[in-house]
Amino acid sequence: MILPADYHMHTPLCRHAAGEPVEYARHALSLGLTEIGFSDHSPMPQDDFDSWRMFDRQLDEYVAKVRLAQQTFPELTIRLALEVDYLPGHEGWIRQLAARHPWDYFIGSVHYVSETWDIDNPAKLSEWKKRDPFEVWQVYFDRLTAAAASGLFEIIGHCDLPKKFGIRPVQDCTPLYDRFLTAVAQAGCAIELNTAGLRKDCREIYPARNVLELAFQKNVPITFGSDAHAPDEVGMAFAEAVSLAQGAGYTKALRFEQRRARTVGI
Ligand SMILES: [Zn+2]
Ligand SMILES: [Zn+2]
Repeated sequence: MILPADYHMHTPLCRHAAGEPVEYARHALSLGLTEIGFSDHSPMPQDDFDSWRMFDRQLDEYVAKVRLAQQTFPELTIRLALEVDYLPGHEGWIRQLAARHPWDYFIGSVHYVSETWDIDNPAKLSEWKKRDPFEVWQVYFDRLTAAAASGLFEIIGHCDLPKKFGIRPVQDCTPLYDRFLTAVAQAGCAIELNTAGLRKDCREIYPARNVLELAFQKNVPITFGSDAHAPDEVGMAFAEAVSLAQGAGYTKALRFEQRRARTVGI
């Protein structure tokens, strides 16, 4: 089995990951991966926005770290990317980021459902107690749908992230998924199968199988990502992710170079 490209991994610049890009690359090679991509958390217009991303002035340093990994392991294809937070009103900032380096792809992710609440932050778990989970899902998927429709991203990250802590609405969320995936299909971007969910309380890949089956029906392409925050998380549970994708009907995935897509078999 040829393993898919692992397109989602971080670096110590985001202040909550360990290991240099060369170490992630070395681990990828040891697993037999042929292609990876670094997608660390993008800087915000204000460096004090939160505490889990690189500062704006570190963007060049980030690119240099990825370039060093490329030079150290020429036998491994290593893509240069960012995981970019989508917040309404940030479109101009995201376009500026896009112009600063020759990125291979942008993963657009929603972590914030308001200016101050990043729903996946364990330090803010108590916020969940103050809200109806379905309302959180609605706001989250509104933002994620806008992110897809913005045309700023090649890939939409961990698309059912609100399930991270195992808190779920009792309502049927299918209409939210349907509207989001329709926007993804219209914009021509992909969603990722992100195996980090297996390491969280929800204990399942992002997205869940029913979401992935709906994505397949709408011809939404996929990529794969471990969301590694340490070298030994690279490629984690990729066999399981491939079998989930195949079970939903997928036989192909996308790879990106210079923001252009190519289709490969899985
Ligand atoms: Zn993320
Ligand atoms: Zn990530």
